[in-house]
Amino acid sequence: MQTIISMSEKTNHHILLEEQYGAHNYHPIPVVLSRGKGVYVWDVDGNRYYDFLSGYSALNQGHCHSKILAAFLEQAQKLTLTSRAFYNDMLGEFEQFITNYFGYDKVIPMNTGVEAVETAIKLCRKWAYEIKGISKEKAKIIVCEGNFHGRTTTVISFSNDPDSRNNFGPFTPGFEIIPYNDIAALEKALSDKNVAGFLTEPIQGEAGVVVPEDGYLSKAKQLCEVYNVLFIADEIQTGLARSGKMLACDHEKVRPDILILGKALSGGMMPVSAVLADNEIMMTLHPGEHGSTYGGNPLACKTAMVALQVLKDEKLAENAETMGQLFRNELNQLHSDHIGIIRGKGLLNAIVIAHASKNAAWDLCLQLKENGLLAKPTHEDRIRLTPPLIINKDQIMESVNIIGKSLSCLD
Ligand code: PLP
Repeated sequence: MQTIISMSEKTNHHILLEEQYGAHNYHPIPVVLSRGKGVYVWDVDGNRYYDFLSGYSALNQGHCHSKILAAFLEQAQKLTLTSRAFYNDMLGEFEQFITNYFGYDKVIPMNTGVEAVETAIKLCRKWAYEIKGISKEKAKIIVCEGNFHGRTTTVISFSNDPDSRNNFGPFTPGFEIIPYNDIAALEKALSDKNVAGFLTEPIQGEAGVVVPEDGYLSKAKQLCEVYNVLFIADEIQTGLARSGKMLACDHEKVRPDILILGKALSGGMMPVSAVLADNEIMMTLHPGEHGSTYGGNPLACKTAMVALQVLKDEKLAENAETMGQLFRNELNQLHSDHIGIIRGKGLLNAIVIAHASKNAAWDLCLQLKENGLLAKPTHEDRIRLTPPLIINKDQIMESVNIIGKSLSCLD
């Protein structure tokens, strides 16, 4: 059965504007959103949808969370940007707050996720030359197949996704790709004395929510300790309560040497990212060696503190765990032949469509939209399902109902 997309004139107008005046570097689902609250968004015609993308997990606290919004608006009227040429009265407060929150000596604030990844790479290399004693220009960072850490030239240098790399070379050297979830491959790679770090996603989100075997992260961390290599966790997508714990590494009681955060750090208000580490690593950075005009701005600092507080106050990790279990159980109860695999942790989940045709995931997303739920394929056969973590039981049940109804478009 083919999905007929109904498009209003207003919707069409906005889509055509983007088509004509914007770069074509995205392929959005044809819906034009103009409002969001909690787990819902509304389109320009007033239709309501469940948001099962949550701004790629930047909206863990839900759309326009009242406390985060109030803090954002209050600070926006006082002071938004000073640059790091001067001190401001929010940055120190934020640094104290977030380092206590996650238990690290120091933090470096950035804006987007990929900037935080770049920052972590630079920190790791600096530590390698100045503390570990690797010879100049020889430092190597191990990464995993199927990784997604962002879009800068260096970060795509170690992607193995052809779309991310095609015609963007030459690439940055100093990275080695090994299979994900493969301890033997990691140990082999670590035996090279020039290895400075192991950069990994605790669960690979963009790859379609690929969850490694239990014990993978803790074994990987142990090996990194044996070989004096930094364990760098990119928790930009998996962190901040999404997987049912504050950090996905917490499932295995692993404390990364370098922790990278982004997305929900501001509850979807603005780009805020951060890299946390202890003094031995962070104090290798000196004035003038790294920075960003907007990094550590007072508006971001104030917003992030409240966004982090909301995660704890509203017990969003606990809710993600409970609602995630319910969600996967209920999806299983659909007994649909179209669902090949249901996988995930907390409210970071995906379905892999069985015997998928080329456009199966896209077609299903269109049908989900028609039925009032927004999601986006991560691959031809995979749809990531990541609602805001404030979702409740009734909303999960209604969402599963929509998914069940929509699957018939694949008959
Ligand atoms: N790392 C991970 C694991 C991500 O999921 C993403 C974005 O999806 C990034 C890094 C890049 O973040 P940003 O798009 O904010 O640069």
